[in-house]
Amino acid sequence: MGKVAVAFAAVAVVAACSVAAVMVGRRMKSRRKWRTVVEILKELEDDCDTPVGRLRQVVDAMAVEMHAGLASEGGSKLKMLLTFVDDLPTGREKGTYYALHLGGTYFRILRVLLGGQRSYLDVQDVERHPIPSHLMNSTSEVLFNFLAFSLERFIEKEENGSNSQGVRRELAFTFSFPVKHTSISSGVLIKWTKGFEISEMVGQDIAECLQGALNRRGLDMRVGVLVNDTVGALSLGYYHDPDTLVAVVFGTGSNACYLERTDAIIKCQGLLTTSGSMVVNMEWGNFWSSHLPRTAYDIDLDAESSNANDMGFEKMISGMYLGDIVRRVILRMSQESDIFGPISPVLSEPYVLRTNSVSAMHEDDTPELQEVSRILKDLGVSDVPVKVRKLVVKICDVVTRRAGRLAAAGIAGILKKIGRDGSGGITSGRSRSEIQMQKRTVVAVEGGLYMNYTMFREYMEEALVEILGEEVSQYVVVKAMEDGSSIGSALLVASLQA
Ligand code: ADP
Ligand code: MG
Repeated sequence: MGKVAVAFAAVAVVAACSVAAVMVGRRMKSRRKWRTVVEILKELEDDCDTPVGRLRQVVDAMAVEMHAGLASEGGSKLKMLLTFVDDLPTGREKGTYYALHLGGTYFRILRVLLGGQRSYLDVQDVERHPIPSHLMNSTSEVLFNFLAFSLERFIEKEENGSNSQGVRRELAFTFSFPVKHTSISSGVLIKWTKGFEISEMVGQDIAECLQGALNRRGLDMRVGVLVNDTVGALSLGYYHDPDTLVAVVFGTGSNACYLERTDAIIKCQGLLTTSGSMVVNMEWGNFWSSHLPRTAYDIDLDAESSNANDMGFEKMISGMYLGDIVRRVILRMSQESDIFGPISPVLSEPYVLRTNSVSAMHEDDTPELQEVSRILKDLGVSDVPVKVRKLVVKICDVVTRRAGRLAAAGIAGILKKIGRDGSGGITSGRSRSEIQMQKRTVVAVEGGLYMNYTMFREYMEEALVEILGEEVSQYVVVKAMEDGSSIGSALLVASLQA
């Protein structure tokens, strides 16, 4: 071999060695990066952990906070608001009634015909529209004019020009934000939630605002009840099954109400109702307890939200927020490793990942997780291997599992407060015999998250059985109430006419 050939061979060997070294280096680096994301995932799992012992602590905290909120005004983060709903629909209601529901994402309008028997409930044409986003931070006038206009169009379509009875129409207004009631048909807005920000409306009477807008349009219609979505769901539940004592909504936000004995509402001494009870709107979205498993993502989400330090429970369990928690985890992984490729600027946009997409990814049963791939592409993340897609599914699972299990703990907390969890409960206002005999209790549940996200629903129901135990669970029936918040409030306004 000549000198030149030897030199070439030596260069080739050196080159081969350095290529190999680079490849090994890259592999090690990539392994290290994978290890980084696995660590981030592990940390998320640990921080979101909800063993049944911890759930029971949340149950106890919920029951204690309920008690405190009933004992004095401002006694708890749970407002435990009076609704002035003391009688629920019986099934004997008759006539035609309208309902308008302003949720967090949608508004709905419907008409019901009632024939005086439980089986004669004809729900006509539920119209559901997304709330135009500019309305969420417009003015009171713009918002209510829009609602009145939508209602007018609906009535024209339904009645086809003939207001047959020539009588004033009765409307139920389901308004899914915290309201301090002065009667069943009036109350002032306490604060906005779920991203709404029309500050001039805080402190205003909501029913009056709507009635004013209806009058301005010349609509012959009276706002007969003002309720929130949970009270609507409870009313529909009770109409079908009088064992329904609790209602919970998991939609854009989350809240619960239940039927409480008036003598347990200590902050309103002397409150008298014919039924001896009243529906209490818990506003449980604002529940807080040190036992809730909180992550760094929750803390950042809260700090950057329009209502920081508020609605802590809602921000862990409801549809508006689950997507954003998942987005924050993916963003962190993408910042600390390159498994998602170059950092996509889309990932930094708050709320860009909707909870609908989280459930679509979580429940993606295609072999290569194509749905996950499609949604990641919308987030500016393209061509990630199946291994990375699986990781994303796992993140969705961890976040939603925590949400479902905490939701169950919340429900069990209410059952405990009313002595229906089999434990004897917090006894105030209840006789011992009532506590000791386990009775059937129906929990009416509604909201887009619960109705459409199977895994959320399954995690919630599984945890409820885990908390209550097999035996007591047999007495607790969770019933889905589709559109309950709107239909139920129409039933409620009907029940007032009887
Ligand atoms: P609103 O909160 O306006 O009353 P809904 O009760 O219908 O409306 O809840 C809508 C919310 O439910 C959506 O904003 C979303 O967070 C959640 N949601 C709806 N569909 C799904 C779905 N398929 N998967 C997960 N979450 C969903
Ligand atoms: Mg809803």
